[in-house]
Amino acid sequence: MDRQSATLPVHLSRTLFDRLDGLVTAIADDRDGRPVEAPFTGNVVSEVVECAPQDVALAVDRASDAQQAWADREPADRARVVQRLHDLVLDRQDELLDLVQLESGKSRAHAFEEVLDVAATARYYGYRTEKILDSERRRGMVAGLTRTEVHRHPVGVVGIIAPWNYPLTLAISDAIPALLAGNAVVLKPAEQTPYTALLATEILREAGIPHDVFHVVTGDGATLGPALVEAVDYVSFTGSTATGREVAAAAGRNLVDCSMELGGKNPLLVLADADLDRAVRGALGACFTNAGQLCISTERLYVDDAVYDEFLERFVAAAADLDVGPSYDYDREIGSLVSKAQLDKVESHVADARERGATVHCGGQARPDLGPYFYEPTVLTDLPKDADAACEETFGPVISVERVDSTAEAVARANDSEYGLNASVWTEDEKLGRAVARDIDCGTVNVNEGYLASWGSVDAPMGGRGKSGIGRRHGPEGLLRFTESQTVSVQRHPLFDAVGIDSGLQAKALTALLRLWRRVPFLR
Ligand code: NAD
Repeated sequence: MDRQSATLPVHLSRTLFDRLDGLVTAIADDRDGRPVEAPFTGNVVSEVVECAPQDVALAVDRASDAQQAWADREPADRARVVQRLHDLVLDRQDELLDLVQLESGKSRAHAFEEVLDVAATARYYGYRTEKILDSERRRGMVAGLTRTEVHRHPVGVVGIIAPWNYPLTLAISDAIPALLAGNAVVLKPAEQTPYTALLATEILREAGIPHDVFHVVTGDGATLGPALVEAVDYVSFTGSTATGREVAAAAGRNLVDCSMELGGKNPLLVLADADLDRAVRGALGACFTNAGQLCISTERLYVDDAVYDEFLERFVAAAADLDVGPSYDYDREIGSLVSKAQLDKVESHVADARERGATVHCGGQARPDLGPYFYEPTVLTDLPKDADAACEETFGPVISVERVDSTAEAVARANDSEYGLNASVWTEDEKLGRAVARDIDCGTVNVNEGYLASWGSVDAPMGGRGKSGIGRRHGPEGLLRFTESQTVSVQRHPLFDAVGIDSGLQAKALTALLRLWRRVPFLR
């Protein structure tokens, strides 16, 4: 390794990385290593196995061979594995938090959100899957004469492609329902955060997942991603809109179903009657969690004229006061950006905003004194609508605030985007908040919360519209996407092929029957 090795946080050891390297599925054991960086320092954590497309093929083959035996187990038996996973993730959180922070550079509190998410998802699906997968009776063609039921079968092997920003959550929280539905999984984590995915794999195996039912391949996304999409029966992709388009097109060519959880440019609306204490605190969390590298975090604020001046003053003061810096304890509020590429993007959006005349109220600077990729929480106003930071996802701690004259204008500005992932509305009038929420073109809308209320409501679907993606995670929808439905209908008495009856007469009789049918409420 050319660069210095990262000093490990207290709950990790070098032997852990050797053990985790052994969990990667690869045909040959002499594959190159790929350096993984610690964003707090820029030092190298370790070198992870650089898999090749043949390794993806091997992983999918093994997963495919193991899948049927897993699917044949009772749903309650599969659920017990996930219930154990819930407890193990809580028990082993010190290691998980250290590793999430080491690879992603986020603060400890933001890393803990990932532990919370995995536990909540494991609890929800661990106890609800049996009911969600239950076969259902549906109305038959003719009541009493046709018995129809719908069954759910696993699709086979699910390919999960995950980003770096929530390396624990996004490695495992989609895998949980996929596995519980009886599928095998092959996971391709992001290049920046493979070890978190591998530690999650170790914990999943400790919880009882059969070895070949869950595989991980590590390395370059542009090399391994297409090979994975080509081979699997369903693609669950989370990442940028640009890559998502390519992945969805490849899945489409193969006629396999997919879900695309993509980027956002999420609005937050402060209405005239909002409680400003709560709104300022809530907006801070919505904007700066994980240094803004959260798909559902806020990047656009629309504030009613009635409270704009006071809100802006308080929000800027609070943003400037956030404690940014590296720490493996809960004592710093905001961590680092993940990489130089991410820092470059944030800097270019702020430079473009400045050039176009935006006002920078706080931040607007990298902080190399804290670590190579730290960036200050930044609040902009007067941002032209065509500026990069106004219309493209920055994915960093850069927020624009805009004055609006009415709630209607706030909603119109919020909807003036090609993205449609998440939104937030602040008002003391809950009824108004719920009504405004329904007018916003986003997959999730939070009233008097930034993102956690919807994200944490794991019984309800979550996902984006427009450039933010297709498909939904969470809730029954998040599990049923990993199944094929099958309709079985039993015809107890023949209807249309009565021998010897003139087909013209039959058509007349059926026409009369259809007319009657529409008029009888309980038959409709
Ligand atoms: P990215 O698209 O660069 O990478 C995501 C994953 O795709 C990585 O594992 C990468 O290796 C892989 N990949 C790269 N090229 C590929 C290809 N040609 N085929 C298949 N896979 C390929 O995204 P990123 O920078 O890692 O993540 C940040 C983005 O993810 C942001 O836009 C963010 O909004 C989005 N995101 C969305 C959600 C959501 O739920 N909607 C959640 C988290 C992140």
